[in-house]
Amino acid sequence: MASSGGRTPELRKDSVSNRWVIFSPARAKRPSDFKSKSPTNPNPSQQKCPFCIGQEHECAPEIFRVPPDNPDWTIRVIQNLYPALSRNLREPSVSRPVSSREIGNCVLDGFGFHDVVIETPVHSVQLSDLSPEQIGQVLLTYKKRTEQLAGHESIKYVQVFKNHGASAGASMSHSHSQILALPIIPPTVSSRLANMKDYFEQTGKCCICQIGSEDLVIHASTNFISLVPYAATFPFEIWIVPRYHSAHFHELDAEKAIDLGGLLKLMLMKMAIQLNNPPFNFMIHTGPLRCQGSETAYAHWFLQIIPQLTGIGGFELGTGCYINPVFPEDAATVLREVEIPGSG
Ligand code: AMP
Ligand code: ZN
Ligand code: ZN
Repeated sequence: MASSGGRTPELRKDSVSNRWVIFSPARAKRPSDFKSKSPTNPNPSQQKCPFCIGQEHECAPEIFRVPPDNPDWTIRVIQNLYPALSRNLREPSVSRPVSSREIGNCVLDGFGFHDVVIETPVHSVQLSDLSPEQIGQVLLTYKKRTEQLAGHESIKYVQVFKNHGASAGASMSHSHSQILALPIIPPTVSSRLANMKDYFEQTGKCCICQIGSEDLVIHASTNFISLVPYAATFPFEIWIVPRYHSAHFHELDAEKAIDLGGLLKLMLMKMAIQLNNPPFNFMIHTGPLRCQGSETAYAHWFLQIIPQLTGIGGFELGTGCYINPVFPEDAATVLREVEIPGSG
């Protein structure tokens, strides 16, 4: 039976994405019954997986490994065998404008970098199985690679993301994430910055520093909070937000990386228990590499986790509005209350 709790539908607008979301409790089951129907196999085995230790020769070239020069590596950053952008093109000159083909349409050489981060040497180990320190090392690997990519003048934005489970877009079951370095600032990043700027101009404050009303918070660590955003686009969407103001993910230091590693692990474990090990994506939303000085006052990075529980359809594609059957405060309660053994 639907448990709309007597609630009527509500439209909420997210101040970061400026996106309208329809909360439609009549379409939901009880929030706690919202389980994945296509859970990911926790122990996928794959013969001849190129990401496993000992199979390095089956991979595209390595960029670096952790620890360096060690055959017993724990993390490897490698080139993607099927990259979306090519690092082998001549790097476009910074001054070269995007050329226009027809009025309104533009073209640019597909220069960029598409890397894979192999998060563990062992096939059966998932990111959430690693310790906070080990996840911290994965996060510091993203940081190190981002700093390397920032050395290319024509790279404007670095997107770190993870696909876990086939319906979240993963083609490989061995635990990994990806880093795409782009010669443009993607439209969601420009519009996010514009929205953050509007909020800053109206209030004198950074909108992410203000986030986290009590009913939406799941857990707080020393430097981060995890929460369900006020106008979550997807059911059980989670944001992990630094409690200190910071425009760029790659400002993360070693101590904060372990803290973030612990909170990310906790959120992935809560999601797995409460939502039946769903496929998920996470994305690190950071500032453009070369932020103007004034932009750093209102740009604030965060990590977004989206469990894949509902597909998107014609309404979402047509309107850019989303229908979320679970009110964020209910999702936050469900995630806050689930106990993780040993997490204190
Ligand atoms: P996903 O599709 O999210 O699972 O990401 C896995 C990525 O690994 C894909 O983008 C593939 O192109 C890439 N890939 C697959 N096999 C190899 C390989 N042997 N070496 C390097 N990259 C690979
Ligand atoms: Zn493997
Ligand atoms: Zn802030």
